[in-house]
Amino acid sequence: MFKNLIGKISHDLGIDLGTANTLVYVKGKGIVVDEPSVVAVNTKTNQIIAVGNEAKKMVGKAPTYISVVKPLVDGIVSDFEITEKMLKYFVDKVHKDSFLSSPRPRMVIGVPLDITEVERKAVEDAALSAGAREVYLVEEPMAAAIGARLPISEAIGNMVVDIGGGTTEIAVISLSGIVSWKSLKTAGVEIDWDIINYAREKYNLFLGENSAEKIKHTLASAYPLEEKLTMEISGRDLYSGLPKSIKVTDEEIRYAISKTINIIIDNIKSTVETTPPDLVSEIYERGIILCGGGAKIKKIDKLITQETQIPCKVIDDPLTAVVRGTGIILEDLENMKELLIPAN
Ligand code: ADP
Ligand code: MG
Repeated sequence: MFKNLIGKISHDLGIDLGTANTLVYVKGKGIVVDEPSVVAVNTKTNQIIAVGNEAKKMVGKAPTYISVVKPLVDGIVSDFEITEKMLKYFVDKVHKDSFLSSPRPRMVIGVPLDITEVERKAVEDAALSAGAREVYLVEEPMAAAIGARLPISEAIGNMVVDIGGGTTEIAVISLSGIVSWKSLKTAGVEIDWDIINYAREKYNLFLGENSAEKIKHTLASAYPLEEKLTMEISGRDLYSGLPKSIKVTDEEIRYAISKTINIIIDNIKSTVETTPPDLVSEIYERGIILCGGGAKIKKIDKLITQETQIPCKVIDDPLTAVVRGTGIILEDLENMKELLIPAN
């Protein structure tokens, strides 16, 4: 009775703790936090200076006494203390914005597919110390499929590909479980590096991480575009050390990132190859669902369709699929527990 009452007045949270972005869904309200998973720390005092959007602006620009940290690497907690502080900051922000001193919330958190027990425990502990009363974990592609409203509990093959910052997660789901899957450490960050390497090799131009990411957002495509795009990019000349800008085209960037895109596509193909044939024929009819920030690379759905011979489509608002899924789970937690990773 008392537990039910707490459930009603506390702000239960659904969280996508991604390598690139952290999103928080509040039960009954929707998504209230959507910020980069970045923290800036004063190394002299060990104090946190900025979190999220403010901290991301400091990447590549901070003096030596400020360390700009991305505490999650390849989808898993790499710096526990900073992850814990970042999560606490976002959770406190939710409570502050709601003008209520809320009891400890329940939290549903998305985690990558091949997470080890130790890594899972790190996420649970970070959530508990950020104030969680109970923590439930769900595999990210499962959450994304729920967010995309796929009929995951039916005996039907659903295929989800989530291209994030640090990992690409590929999964076939049927009867509320994951039938075949792959998790690669090849995703958005590698594509940024492809762009950095291309500019260095072709133009002797040294680009910062944030600039490379901006170029990707504007120009990156996986398949020829109807209209040619160009962009002026600037960085430092490797020889003179002085600022330099050049113009690049979508075609150049497409070439620069093609190897990485092909690795992702090869892994989609090999996941299909390990999937039982009846499910494959349903996936063929229903298509592959793409989500995560990498789904925004222009025409990536078209190239995947061409290479796999399976229709592929990007879901609406691909960056929020996982957190929307955790939100749907929260709204009906009692009935959806079978979809969660069992607690130890
Ligand atoms: P994660 O779950 O790992 O935090 P996200 O799903 O939030 O990752 O996606 C972040 C990745 O998507 C980043 O590498 C980001 O650069 C990339 N991204 C976001 N928007 C775009 C876009 N318009 N074009 C290409 N890549 C994008
Ligand atoms: Mg993600």
